[in-house]
Amino acid sequence: MELWQQMIRDSVHSVDQLVEKFNIDKKVAEDLDEFFQARINPYYLSLIRYPGDPIWLQCVPDGIELDDMDGFEDPLNEDAMSPVPNITHRYPDRCLFLVTSQCGMYCRFCTRKRKVGDSGKISMKELESAFNYIEQHKEIRDVILSGGDPLMLTDTMLEKILQRLRSIPHVEIIRLGTKMPCVLPQRITPKLCEMIKKYHPIYVNTHFNHPWEITEESTQACTMLANAGCPVQNQAVLMKGVNDNAEVLMELFQKLLKIRVKPYYLFMADETKGASHFRTSIQTGLDIINKLRGYTSGLAIPHFVIDAPGGGGKIPLIPNYVLHQDEDRIVLRNYKNEVYVYREIKEHKTKTKSSEIKVEVGKNNGNGKTKAPKKFKKIEELQTVEITASKN
Ligand SMILES: *Cc1c(COP(=O)(O)O)cnc(C)c1O
Ligand code: SF4
Repeated sequence: MELWQQMIRDSVHSVDQLVEKFNIDKKVAEDLDEFFQARINPYYLSLIRYPGDPIWLQCVPDGIELDDMDGFEDPLNEDAMSPVPNITHRYPDRCLFLVTSQCGMYCRFCTRKRKVGDSGKISMKELESAFNYIEQHKEIRDVILSGGDPLMLTDTMLEKILQRLRSIPHVEIIRLGTKMPCVLPQRITPKLCEMIKKYHPIYVNTHFNHPWEITEESTQACTMLANAGCPVQNQAVLMKGVNDNAEVLMELFQKLLKIRVKPYYLFMADETKGASHFRTSIQTGLDIINKLRGYTSGLAIPHFVIDAPGGGGKIPLIPNYVLHQDEDRIVLRNYKNEVYVYREIKEHKTKTKSSEIKVEVGKNNGNGKTKAPKKFKKIEELQTVEITASKN
């Protein structure tokens, strides 16, 4: 057994352990276990500094989860967008492929509580129909392995999946959505990196939420992945008591860059059942982004997004920098609230090469009438054509 597998076995998970280690009432611990099981491996447990700290809040079950009946089981409507088991296909050219229900730690704020930890819900038996789906859908050029955590699979099993995906010509890139570099960095072994290398381009999306998670061990894990040629990105979740202030997040994002991880997304917490106590206001998030942009490297600033309830996908939120905009100018503020005017240009009469022109036939011209398509003798013969910038 590899070290990381032993560490999973040594995790705090039982009701008795919860009662003993964290002083949780026995009945509450039983109800919590029923609701969403605990798994705190010895590495992540060792990061806790005091009860209720940002590490503790992310991993230790809390009775407050049971009072929250407002949230949704499946806030992102992932199940409805699942054409075959294990696949969520929401966007035109990419899909999620759930390959295991297991994780190296169970996060109390997880959006996929309904499935995570329950091997009946994400079954390895269903992989074949998922591969067939990807094979039949030539528009899928980006496959995101998720779960659970795909690095809970053995190297051998993961390699079988990567091999199969690489045999599909239209799959251009593969992403590994894994929290292991953060919660169980011992999983990133030289052997794993040697294997991954053979299937490039492999992107790794990882998930750090707090600067205390950046340790010698996690630094080594991210360095090994980067050295193996994987671009590594981070997806963080904004959470009350964990990281809901600009100083903490600036430190996190700067430290991530130092270990060659690019902050990619900062999510508003989802409306997941049992996780409302983590939610912050949207304004808190916007204020944080406002305190980062301009003050530190643009590289350190992730896209701040809401994963739209009901399955609308990730929608970016940006602090308001536009004070006024009309036909002639845009009035902007910079990060120091200094005001600048940028003059607009009139875009009529642009010269465009005929090869770039798309003639839209029979489009409504805005007067409620349909304009007849413009007649060209032969579009290839025209050198340049005058078009107007207006859409209609
Ligand atoms: C987040 C997500 C993706 C990937 O989105 P990107 O913006 O490309 O990172 C793809 N599919 C689903 C269902 C997702 O939730
Ligand atoms: S690692 Fe991801 S999928 Fe697993 S419990 Fe945490 S948030 Fe959920």
